[in-house]
Amino acid sequence: TDLVTTILSRIRDVPDYPQAGVVFKDITPLLADHTAFSAVIDALALDLDVDKVVGIEARGFILAAPVAYQAGAGFVPVRKKGKLPAETFEGSYDLEYGSAVIEVHRDAFAPGDRVLIVDDVLATGGTARAAVELVSRAGAEVVGFSVLMELAFLRGRDRLGDVDVRALVAV
Ligand code: 5GP
Repeated sequence: TDLVTTILSRIRDVPDYPQAGVVFKDITPLLADHTAFSAVIDALALDLDVDKVVGIEARGFILAAPVAYQAGAGFVPVRKKGKLPAETFEGSYDLEYGSAVIEVHRDAFAPGDRVLIVDDVLATGGTARAAVELVSRAGAEVVGFSVLMELAFLRGRDRLGDVDVRALVAV
């Protein structure tokens, strides 16, 4: 579709970032283009019926906040350990080297809140899976996980069980 073409033309491949052999998908050209950025937000927010939209630090924030606004929902940040000021739940997940810990405020959700989680790119699915578990533990119902771009060859969605995973483009 037209949106797919627009997105693909505004995401830049950066070779050997953050390490040799990795081709990083850089979304900053898309964010800098009002027409492309607003079309992406509208597509992510289309027909959403949720109470909260969760953004995953840091690029997830950039997409999730306007999606929440557009959908008439609240915004909730999932952050790297040590960044949230009040009581949190935390979850860890494995990285290629070592592990990472993410957190959400314990009182971020009302019981049974319907939640969409948003990030920029779905790669191996480790971050997504940890976020889904964290939001569930905080008492909310995860109704979907949406991204701008899915790196389908890494099979990240296979790690998300029956969560409704949506990507505006898959490569
Ligand atoms: P995963 O946990 O699925 O392997 O990696 C996804 C997380 O890492 C997301 O939070 C995403 O922001 C980041 N990420 C991994 N690869 C890329 C990439 O090529 N481009 C961008 N923009 N983010 C990436």
